[in-house]
Amino acid sequence: MKKFKNFSKWFDEILFNADILDNRYPVKGFAVYKAWGFRIIKNIIEILEERLNETGHIPMLFPVVIPEDAFAKESEHIKGFSSEVFWITHAGDRELDKKLLLRPTSETAIYPMFALWIRSHADLPLKVYQSVAVYRYETKATRPLLRMREFLWNEAHTAHKSWEEAERQVAEAVEIYNSVFKRLGLSYLVLRRPDFDKFAGAVYSIAFDAWNPDGRVNQIGTVHNLGENFAKAFEITYEDLDGSHKNVFQTCYGFGLSRVVAAIIAQHSDDHGLILPPDIAPIQVVIVPILYKGATHEVNAYAREVYEIIKSSGIRVHLDTDEDKTPGEKFYYWEMLGAPVRVEVGPRDQRERKVTLVKRVDLKRIVVPLEDTVTAIKDLFNEIIRVLEERSSSTLKEIIVDAEDQSSLSDIVKLNRRIARVCWCEGVECAEKIREASGGEIRGYRIDVEEKPEKPCIICGREAKRIVYVARAY
Ligand SMILES: [Zn+2]
Repeated sequence: MKKFKNFSKWFDEILFNADILDNRYPVKGFAVYKAWGFRIIKNIIEILEERLNETGHIPMLFPVVIPEDAFAKESEHIKGFSSEVFWITHAGDRELDKKLLLRPTSETAIYPMFALWIRSHADLPLKVYQSVAVYRYETKATRPLLRMREFLWNEAHTAHKSWEEAERQVAEAVEIYNSVFKRLGLSYLVLRRPDFDKFAGAVYSIAFDAWNPDGRVNQIGTVHNLGENFAKAFEITYEDLDGSHKNVFQTCYGFGLSRVVAAIIAQHSDDHGLILPPDIAPIQVVIVPILYKGATHEVNAYAREVYEIIKSSGIRVHLDTDEDKTPGEKFYYWEMLGAPVRVEVGPRDQRERKVTLVKRVDLKRIVVPLEDTVTAIKDLFNEIIRVLEERSSSTLKEIIVDAEDQSSLSDIVKLNRRIARVCWCEGVECAEKIREASGGEIRGYRIDVEEKPEKPCIICGREAKRIVYVARAY
């Protein structure tokens, strides 16, 4: 497949041809989400927000601007983000008294308000979220969807009475993200980041690294336990039952909407174009009438009947009646857009009151009686997501390779563009050498599977503490 030979070129072509995004906006790192791409994103937001609502999260919308003094309150946080911040310094030609920045992430916009809202134990837990754009002046080469200076995400922020409650919230967040990624058929590693790579201001960070055909990982989500770090900086306290005042414990987590779309494209799609999981496809079923002279009227009327039946079931269906295109051109177009199921309706289908169903995922066709159409389509949706998930997880397994020594580490990451599985002593010097040898980064150890190192540290030969995954990253 082209995507394994020249990922960048293939990816850019899909973005353009499938009407996902136009990267020609005249500001570097900013792009226009086009109709098909934006509808996909809205469908992902709907699935995610439904899960957040079910678990007691409240939607809110905080301002995009943050005052400099709030941003500077948590010392690690400002160190981590200050080099990427877009500043607003002027209004017209007057200099602002207080500089403002565009949110690179919203802790410092939200937590001053938490400090006002949280008074007693009865106000906890507090769990809020928003789906918004954030702004980071990336210095590495920008890539559409994967590394942009404006990108879309959903961020959630929570406050709790104790460390234990915050720990439970971290587990809930991981479970929510897993459940959404599962509906998208994505495969990834759930990794605890090494301390030197945790979120600025967090006690620890967990990240979801999705595989990419070029061997680079794509961080599609993160979950952070913030402990009391921000509570101390922003004085977020509550009065407990015994009348004492305590700091809250906090978590935050981000779901990368732009990056999740990138992962869906990268993992599922093929040389014909996009392949979409049915749950997020803007159009799940497209009906293409196959017209022959003499039967045009009957076939069109039958196609309309099929359309009404499918539509009444709640499936997102489109009847393609464009008379300027041949059926072949329509097939090509809808395969590029990744519509999960195509319904072909020809004279024979019409005469026998049947329909022909074709799955985008493998282009296999089945013929079913008209009355079974909706059931058959729903079965195909289940089959499609299962196939996508199986394909993607087997590729992830192929992409991960055990590194025996430093030279194989280099071959795996640099030469063969894979993810290396490495035994590491947790020493910072060895981490640096792993980075030099591989050209990649230590992404962390798995928390979804317990893994014990069977071998010594790949660099120093002392006892290894962890099996870690080393890859280049977007
Ligand atoms: Zn070592």
